[in-house]
Amino acid sequence: MGHKCSLSHYPHLFSPLDLGFVSLPNRAIMGSMHTGLEEIGDGLKRLAAFYAERARADVGIMVTGGFSPNRTGCLFAESAMVSTKQDVHEHQTVTSAVHHNGGRILLQILHAGRYGYHNDIVAPSAIRAPINSITPRTMTQVEIEQTIKDYARATELAREAGYDGIEIMASEGYLLNEFTAPMTNTREDDWGGSLENRLRMPLQVMQACRDAAGRDFIIMFRMSMLDLINEGSTWDETVTYARGIESAGADIINTGIGWHEARIPTIAQPVPRAGFTWVTERMKGQVSIPLVATNRINTPDVAEDVLASEQADMVSMARPFLADPEFMAKARQGRADEINTCIACNQACLDHIYTGRTTSCLVNPRAGHETLLNWRDTDSPLCIAVIGAGPAGLSFAAVAAERGHRVTLFEAGDEIGGQFLLARNVPGKQEFDETLRYYRKRLDSGGVRIELRHRATAEELIERGFDQVVLAAGVAPRVPDILGLNHASVVFYPEVLSKQAQVGRRVVIIGGGGIAFDTALYLLEGDKTDHIDPRDFAARWGVEQPPRTEKPAYDITMVQRTPGRMGKSLGKTTGWIHREVLRQAGVRQFTGVTYEGIDDRGLRVLVDGEVRIVEGDSIIVCAGQTPKRDLCEDLVKAGIEVHLIGGAREATGLDAERAIDEGTRLAASL
Ligand code: NAP
Ligand code: SF4
Repeated sequence: MGHKCSLSHYPHLFSPLDLGFVSLPNRAIMGSMHTGLEEIGDGLKRLAAFYAERARADVGIMVTGGFSPNRTGCLFAESAMVSTKQDVHEHQTVTSAVHHNGGRILLQILHAGRYGYHNDIVAPSAIRAPINSITPRTMTQVEIEQTIKDYARATELAREAGYDGIEIMASEGYLLNEFTAPMTNTREDDWGGSLENRLRMPLQVMQACRDAAGRDFIIMFRMSMLDLINEGSTWDETVTYARGIESAGADIINTGIGWHEARIPTIAQPVPRAGFTWVTERMKGQVSIPLVATNRINTPDVAEDVLASEQADMVSMARPFLADPEFMAKARQGRADEINTCIACNQACLDHIYTGRTTSCLVNPRAGHETLLNWRDTDSPLCIAVIGAGPAGLSFAAVAAERGHRVTLFEAGDEIGGQFLLARNVPGKQEFDETLRYYRKRLDSGGVRIELRHRATAEELIERGFDQVVLAAGVAPRVPDILGLNHASVVFYPEVLSKQAQVGRRVVIIGGGGIAFDTALYLLEGDKTDHIDPRDFAARWGVEQPPRTEKPAYDITMVQRTPGRMGKSLGKTTGWIHREVLRQAGVRQFTGVTYEGIDDRGLRVLVDGEVRIVEGDSIIVCAGQTPKRDLCEDLVKAGIEVHLIGGAREATGLDAERAIDEGTRLAASL
């Protein structure tokens, strides 16, 4: 109905791929993601709904999270395995839901090796990973042979369960990768030493899985094409390895970038879009089976470019399908501007997994909760005023309007966005522009009335007869009680991040939370990250070269009252990157201080019983926030039902994830 022809938009992305025994409808793979549902009671049913929704929306082929072929290969004590007939029965729930919705799905087989977090982990050699406190046992010859059989058995079971194929996970530093790298394989038997010996395990696993599966079953092999560790494989070795994998019967080779212990970002925000596709491109021509490019491909345009420039035959995107299950359908129908784009924050996906929670998505709280968080058209439309067009207000307004409520969104500023407008100036967070584009479109199609530059008053809201008011007015920066805070050198972080304040060379940052880190990063890297070239990224972080260091433009000192290491509240999977950037720039951090006052020389603090002057031309306050909810009392007095969401409800610990989640859930419930 009026949709433009997809082929004119993304001809390469939507070109079918014939594997001989099966034809894939397009070039997109939904990459493997552990969701945390794999291990819980009704998890496979919830997973079935999760995959079905994405299959229905044209994802060519999907890969499950990792399932271990045996007990020692588990990621943690109770993590999911595929090793018995009982597993077959349970997985049929997933495969039938996917097939019923026109999709294809591969089971990922993952042996964690020394990255397992339980007491019986094994590896080629007993060398502990720097990111694990547990030292693995050296695998015996018998265990190696049994593990190869376990892979084959898992493949047979996957086939019986109705999977269209498997992905063998051999990258990111897991067991098979540990065999190929000299750093983790110091064996002196047939399974270590020479290249031939180090490749023996993954090649035999590949061969055994092919023998078990038969020819007409997709086997995708995810090999490490760039280890990013000391003593990883060389490029020549990697090419030999890829050719061996092809000969052993793989249908597709997927690209793995970086071990989990690598100290170079591989998927987080500092990585530019398509920042590692050059690695896959380098393999082109070395093998004849299709190659898949991965990492930070998050829009159909980027995917199309990678394919059109023949860097790869397929693209794997994982998190973008959490952010928007309909990514492919929207791209095909010429509605790419409606896609909710993954911003690479890791906050609700990987950080959840690493803190024992179900995977979801900051920009799409339904992800991982498809059976639990749903909404339908309302039977009794309400007239609702939303105060504040930040993340909470936007998500509320979008869902409420979609349900048929009449929504008016009041915003005191010139444009919608709230804290997004500040955040998008922080290095790496420019992706928030996509989130704003998405909301603009969604509010427009939902018919939300937007009143910008309009600070609504209680009288007006009462007079205009709104049934309910949603207060999403957000937060104001906390004004700490420090002597001399009115000194000319003092500015608050919003003035800095919105480019309104002049900042001197010597900077003191009061506070050590997420925004203090963001502000320091903004000063150090703000101007360099808008459209960073993958080559500059590689040079900056030392990918296959020594890292490039530059003299920082600012001399920064951060201070906080709480003792201990700074930045504990930063994301589990991204905090190390921010700490590393600041360390490289020589940022000083003092914790456990007492504030004595501010004067012409800078900030006076008491630290370890001594008064110290932290000299600074500019003192930037990043001391948390307080809620903005001044309208609340008058509205309640007038008998109007008021809902508080986001920072207006609770400023402590507020982030965009919580704000969007609260807005969505409230709108779903009215
Ligand atoms: P935050 O993380 O709670 O940090 C607030 C900082 O202000 C603390 O370092 C605290 O240190 C200081 N502070 C609090 N009360 C103070 C007072 N009365 N006087 C002086 N200092 C005071 O808050 P935020 O940095 O404003 O960030 C807001 C939210 O956004 C947080 O949930 C944060 O996690 C999230 N966020 C995360 C990231 C990220 O992970 N990259 C980035 C931005 C924001 P002391 O009390 O010890 O002095
Ligand atoms: Fe992407 Fe962030 Fe959502 Fe993860 S939580 S899928 S990184 S937007």
